[in-house]
Amino acid sequence: MDLNHIKGIGEKTVSYLHNASIYSVEDLLRFYPYRYQILSPSLLEETSLEEVVTINVIVSQVPQVSYIKRNLNALRFVCESNGKRIRVTIFNRAFLKRNLVVGKKISLTGKYNAKSNTFTANDIKFSWLDDAKIIPVYHSIKGIRPITLEKLIDEVLQNNLQLEDTLPLELKEKYRLISISDALLKIHKPKSKEDVKQARRRIIYEELFEFMFKIQYLKQLKHESVGQTKHFDQKKLDCFIESLPFSLTNDQRKAVDDGLKDLESSRCMNRLLLGDVGSGKTIVATILLYANALAGYQTAFLAPTEILAEQHFRSIRGLLADSSLEIDLMVGSLSKKEKENILERCQSGQIDVLIGTHALLNENLFFNRLGFIITDEQHRFGVNQRDKLKSKAVAPDMLFMSATPIPRTYALTIYGDMDTSIIKEKPKGRKDIITKVVKEKDLREVLLKVLEEIKLGHQVYVVAPMIEESEESTLKNVELLREKFDLAYHGKIPMGVLHGKMKKDQKEEVMHDFKIGKSKILISTTVVEVGVDVSLATVMIIFNADRFGLATLHQLRGRVGRSDLQSYCYLICNEDKERLHVLEESNDGFYISEKDFEFRGEGDLFGVKQSGDMSFSLADIRRDYDILMVAKEDAEEYVVKKMYSGSQHFKEIIEKIDFTN
Ligand code: ADP
Ligand code: MG
Repeated sequence: MDLNHIKGIGEKTVSYLHNASIYSVEDLLRFYPYRYQILSPSLLEETSLEEVVTINVIVSQVPQVSYIKRNLNALRFVCESNGKRIRVTIFNRAFLKRNLVVGKKISLTGKYNAKSNTFTANDIKFSWLDDAKIIPVYHSIKGIRPITLEKLIDEVLQNNLQLEDTLPLELKEKYRLISISDALLKIHKPKSKEDVKQARRRIIYEELFEFMFKIQYLKQLKHESVGQTKHFDQKKLDCFIESLPFSLTNDQRKAVDDGLKDLESSRCMNRLLLGDVGSGKTIVATILLYANALAGYQTAFLAPTEILAEQHFRSIRGLLADSSLEIDLMVGSLSKKEKENILERCQSGQIDVLIGTHALLNENLFFNRLGFIITDEQHRFGVNQRDKLKSKAVAPDMLFMSATPIPRTYALTIYGDMDTSIIKEKPKGRKDIITKVVKEKDLREVLLKVLEEIKLGHQVYVVAPMIEESEESTLKNVELLREKFDLAYHGKIPMGVLHGKMKKDQKEEVMHDFKIGKSKILISTTVVEVGVDVSLATVMIIFNADRFGLATLHQLRGRVGRSDLQSYCYLICNEDKERLHVLEESNDGFYISEKDFEFRGEGDLFGVKQSGDMSFSLADIRRDYDILMVAKEDAEEYVVKKMYSGSQHFKEIIEKIDFTN
């Protein structure tokens, strides 16, 4: 039902609600309180100076109003509370004066100062507060006062809206869940804690069930889909693996085997390659795309940023230099002519491997025989983006790579519809990165270490503080840091600066200078967050480290320690944050992600961007893990038995599924 149907709602309010993604009456009802305040009357003698309390009193003297300033008035009166007379002050409520007649029972909310025997109220209600009252507290919506929001919700609830219950009946009965109408009433207007509990139980289960339904549905669909069987020259492939400058770790070998089996099988590959930063995923992908090429198919390799695309391009081309493969790079900043050239050669099948950013999604880009799609840092791409690429091929094999460490149990849930290969083992000779949390005032210690390392011919990354994600101020921070470092080293150390607003060639030049060691310190925003590979870099300094989740910090730290040199990471912050010490203790991404989860909940699970599919209103997959598991089983049965057919609601859910996930 449209918001305009709510009695007394205005245009403006509607548009503010729209801004908060509330488009219908149902959306409004599903804007749940995020916590509850439990109000119960206090006794005056039990209150302390700081505490906000509510007390029941009787007015015993007519109020006086005094006007203090133009926008400030005070209403003062005397009350009796349990036989004790106290003085009450409330500001800017002169209009209440005539309601406050002697003998009236009212309740006051505010703070009591026993010394002066005054109660400074911030709210007055014209009745006594009886027993405990549960008051919902909502996140604020820009432009809408909390009281207005409550009124709107009240209005809707009073109209006794009959919502269709979307949860299958047998599941509701199985867990004795209350109906959705009941749940919505109880979540907004609970009469007891039990009401809140029942309502939450119902809504959380529903959220998780629908979430798992989508995953199970996808899984089912993928099991049914048939792809190409790819035949490749195993000897040539073995030769290639032999020729690598290092031998694969066991985990890498296993991942390669998994992937090759997928390519050979008639089922489509739908595999997640999960491995910590620096664990060597790129080489696994390279071997697989080589096999794909040997079988006569093209590969598209999608990376989230230009820098990364370029790096993959360079390293893959380097690794496959002796092959006859045609490998190209497609990024937004290419000239029109360069792009056209790529479009042409891609369509004709001349290009075997096309690496690129979202520029690969170009509508005019066609492949001749696209058989394999690799997506790096897959969670960074939007739903439609991946969809588009997939549509350029017929039943392609899909490999997703992620360095975002996710606790394994959760990974299996979230990526429940994919096969998974995990690289845990680091390449031989890698040393743990020595990590230290340092207060900003002790920066000197870090600056000295930097000097020491630079004298050894090593290099340093500096990540500038990120301020409220505003590019302007982050830019300023990068410049400020450069000045600071220049001052500290008397301008004697060559430095590069990298940020999101730079032109492609500028970025390229800065990166290049750093890669070849022309500059020794690279100061940047989090642009360098993923994947950049400079093996002589041994120090990573992260400012305002407390602003990042542990998983993100761990990823940033992974820019160093990519050779057998001892590396260091300094986490600079103003106050000591307990959680940062987890990084001092451990270099294990999975362990760190477990800890991150403990400290921050699922919010930061995916690092920078959160996948839309994963945002629940009430459910928290960590806290509600048991419910999630039950919902998973239920959803599986529901999907396998195709019990959803005939339900309009589930039809709608299916329509909204991101099929590239
Ligand atoms: P990821 O993409 O997983 O973060 P990369 O694939 O970029 O990691 O690999 C990091 C570095 O380790 C690269 O320089 C790569 O050449 C090197 N490397 C990969 N596998 C091995 C291995 N088995 N032994 C030694 N070095 C390796
Ligand atoms: Mg990588």
